[in-house]
Amino acid sequence: MNRFPLSFSSLRARWRAGLPLRYTMMVVVVVGVTLPALLLLTLEQELAEKSQKALLAQSETALMKIGSVSIAEPMWVVDRVALDAAAVRLLESPQVVAVRIEDGLANTPELERVRPDYGKTLATETAAGSLTRRTQTVVRSGEVLGTLVVWFDATYGQGLLQARRSQMLSLVALQVLAILAVLMPVLVSRVLRPIERLKEQASALLDHGQDSTVDRARFVWRRQDELGLLGRHLGRVQEELRTLFGQLGTKNAQLQQMAFYDQLTGLPNRALFIDLVQREMLQAHRSQQQFGIFFIDLDRFKAVNDSMGHAAGDELLIEVARRLRDTLREVDVVCRQSGDEFLVMVSDIDHWESLGEMAERILRVVEEPVQLANTTVRVSASIGIALFPEDAQDFETLVKHADIAVYQAKTLGRARYSFFHSELNFRLQASLELEQQLAHAIAHGELVLHYQPQVDAMTGRLVAVEALVRWQHPTRGLLLPGQFIGLAEESGKIAEMGVWTLREACRQLADWKARGIHVGNMAVNVSALEFRDHRLLDSLQAALAASGIAPNELEIEITESVLMAETETSQRIIERLRQLGVGIAIDDFGTGYSSLAYLKRLRPNQLKIDRSFVNDADVDSDSRAIVRGVVGLANALGLNVVAEGVETVEQQAFLRESGCHTLQGYYIARPLAVDALEVWMAARHNKETA
Ligand code: C2E
Ligand code: CA
Ligand code: CA
Repeated sequence: MNRFPLSFSSLRARWRAGLPLRYTMMVVVVVGVTLPALLLLTLEQELAEKSQKALLAQSETALMKIGSVSIAEPMWVVDRVALDAAAVRLLESPQVVAVRIEDGLANTPELERVRPDYGKTLATETAAGSLTRRTQTVVRSGEVLGTLVVWFDATYGQGLLQARRSQMLSLVALQVLAILAVLMPVLVSRVLRPIERLKEQASALLDHGQDSTVDRARFVWRRQDELGLLGRHLGRVQEELRTLFGQLGTKNAQLQQMAFYDQLTGLPNRALFIDLVQREMLQAHRSQQQFGIFFIDLDRFKAVNDSMGHAAGDELLIEVARRLRDTLREVDVVCRQSGDEFLVMVSDIDHWESLGEMAERILRVVEEPVQLANTTVRVSASIGIALFPEDAQDFETLVKHADIAVYQAKTLGRARYSFFHSELNFRLQASLELEQQLAHAIAHGELVLHYQPQVDAMTGRLVAVEALVRWQHPTRGLLLPGQFIGLAEESGKIAEMGVWTLREACRQLADWKARGIHVGNMAVNVSALEFRDHRLLDSLQAALAASGIAPNELEIEITESVLMAETETSQRIIERLRQLGVGIAIDDFGTGYSSLAYLKRLRPNQLKIDRSFVNDADVDSDSRAIVRGVVGLANALGLNVVAEGVETVEQQAFLRESGCHTLQGYYIARPLAVDALEVWMAARHNKETA
């Protein structure tokens, strides 16, 4: 009782939820085709049954009539044989089951014939309705002879109807099958398959149109029906999505690039670097390994940036970044920390000394000349190295210690590397102190100038003295420039120091002149940094004015690094110096980035051959060749040549023979305090006159 409504409701639920299309189609076909056919069949059956009933009734009546007529004669003549034959004839009719002839006059015996194969009782079967009993009065010549009783098979004709029904049923079934056979392929090919494809296409849309493995050709629609239109539409949506997602992808990549990479150099930025270093820390911790952090700081980058412009500065940074990347190994990570500072993580090292070799390599590649616009620039770098886990166990401290090591490298004179050690902290403290003390030193007159003679190579006559600064430190004794010039440049004190040096040197020269002591010209060193400052000219003119010495008695020594970043300011200063008639000497000539072009443009008065060539002249034929070459060049340009660092008589002989004009060095005299110089001069004078 319960099952039907249950399955019906579940069917209804499934219908609501949406049967698969192919089942829906099948249900529609079966219901739409079968139901009308079955209805028709029932109606037709009913009609057939009705008409058959009428026909049977007619034929039964006819049989009764004929039967009664055929037995009238035998009954009349009381011919039992003929009567029997007539009854048998009647029984031959297929629908007749039994025949009885009853004699109305009762003089003829009753006759009853039943079909031999009929085994049931007539009375009960008649009562049950499976037999129809009919009677007919037998009349002859107006006289009633008896009654003919016939039992007809009530079910006769049912078999025919049954056969007809099953024929019709199979016909209907055939029809449904035929329709399904024709309709389903059409449905499948025209509707179901395209819908299936649309489904796939729509799923492909969900892949954000990014999945390149999706075969686009599969979704080309040629059909012109509604599904085809929908498919093409989907295709366009897909294309659009693909471009949209493509753009989104690029945007994402750009964002990623911006978030983790330096825009200028394309190197990882600090954020990404921190992440990578922290990972390396875990890794190194597990495997008990070391790695190093390099803090690389370009020396005097600010000067290039200020003098040549930011575009040139940027170009320089890009080039340095490229060189760093090219020099380092795959496993190393280089990042731009900020400005001209770079951080490098050097992992996978076998011993810490190899970090030094790596730093050395970096220093070398950074120092290679860089072509910027029309100028060749050379920069150097200072590198501080901190070791994990010895120097620090966390990122911030590790970098801080590397930074301290850089500072150390800078105070040691730049263009070098330095390891962080805890004792470095101490030294750093010391140099910080020194830096602070330097400010007082200038004001408190702790700076002194020593003077080193320059003599004519041939005659030995004193032609000039070079002023070299010293710091009479209250507790540390006499400090040489190498111990504090770097600090002075770093802290900006160099300008103040320069002003003092110029004034003091000029004052001293004037003092000697006033006292009749002839030392020749006064050479003063001016640091490259000072050459970027317009105030240099003012202080120089002030020094000349205050001392009253002639401009041509003063010589300014500049190193090639000034010319390296030849700027408008430095050019103007040099131009003004020449106009004033102040001499210009190129110091340490041959060690820098000599370009003959600037010699021609600048027209210095003299070249000072670097000490290293003079020193090596004894042993190295290349150095000898360089000295001769410089002398030749200077002669061709009409410049004076000074050889620095002459320490031996052999060197003096070689330099004389090579044609050097002026000699300076310990062999002639060390840098001397004023008194000492005067004593030295007096001694020489005595020797000459003796
Ligand atoms: P520099 O201009 O090349 O000066 C020559 C340096 O060589 C001096 O060192 C001098 O003592 C040294 N020297 C001279 N003859 C010999 C020799 O025969 N053998 C050897 N081994 N050395 C010799 P100092 O005085 O220590 O100065 C070092 C540098 O400091 C100078 O190199 C110069 O660049 C810079 N400096 C010195 N005084 C000043 C200054 O007042 N202002 C600036 N901006 N820089 C200065
Ligand atoms: Ca010098
Ligand atoms: Ca020099």
